[in-house]
Amino acid sequence: MRVTFLGTGTSTGVPTLACHCRVCTSSDPRDKRMRPSLLVRFDDRTIVIDTTPDFRAQALREGLDRLDAVLFTHSHADHILGLDDVRVFYFRQQKPIPIYADALCMKDIQRTFKYIFDGDYPYGGIARLDPHLIDGPFEVQGLKIIPVPLLHGKLPILGFRISGMAYLTDVSEIPESSYPLLQGLEVLILDTLRPRPHPTHLTVEKALSVMERLRVRRGYGTHIAHDLGHEETNAQLPPQVRLAYDGLQLEF
Ligand SMILES: [Zn+2]
Ligand SMILES: [Zn+2]
Ligand SMILES: [Zn+2]
Repeated sequence: MRVTFLGTGTSTGVPTLACHCRVCTSSDPRDKRMRPSLLVRFDDRTIVIDTTPDFRAQALREGLDRLDAVLFTHSHADHILGLDDVRVFYFRQQKPIPIYADALCMKDIQRTFKYIFDGDYPYGGIARLDPHLIDGPFEVQGLKIIPVPLLHGKLPILGFRISGMAYLTDVSEIPESSYPLLQGLEVLILDTLRPRPHPTHLTVEKALSVMERLRVRRGYGTHIAHDLGHEETNAQLPPQVRLAYDGLQLEF
């Protein structure tokens, strides 16, 4: 299995519009962060976690030429607004694209993209999607996916564990009951917003304490704000933990 970071930025992306700070004006390509999403490839199958407003540019960059499913963590704009662009894969593959979300997230998606789910939309050219509600572990093309309940501020959202990898973005607290789902991880990809506290995201310090508690072999921070420069932050992290960057690939 191979995972690729499609985007590692916080909701605004980095550079942030109209900001001229050191990180937003950095020439290091690893300081350019699109909105957060992960591409999972196994055999010749392809799953995307979240469809960001940057989905089209991300798919072009990675040469995405098929899409077997989309998993959604939650319905915030930075995680769903690229959904319309999956229609190209529907046209090519001639089969509705399966999407997976919990009930709350699916309701928001169906409201935001009403025209997609409206059975008699008269203008054509739209995606056909095959919605699946997540209410426990499930399989996509034979690959077992374990949803991991998380808290994003007060909002209950999902992370996903796939084999030895877990992707936990937009989390401020991992409920005790979710820790057993995260034992024996090889790779943990975790929300690491910035050093200052935030009501709905983990700080660097809190992310490190989660990684320590889970004794992960390799940890990667994502959903990164412009407070954190890639190079200088990595220099301060323990060797098994790195900030991820757009385009980074991991194999396991
Ligand atoms: Zn987000
Ligand atoms: Zn900035
Ligand atoms: Zn969010």
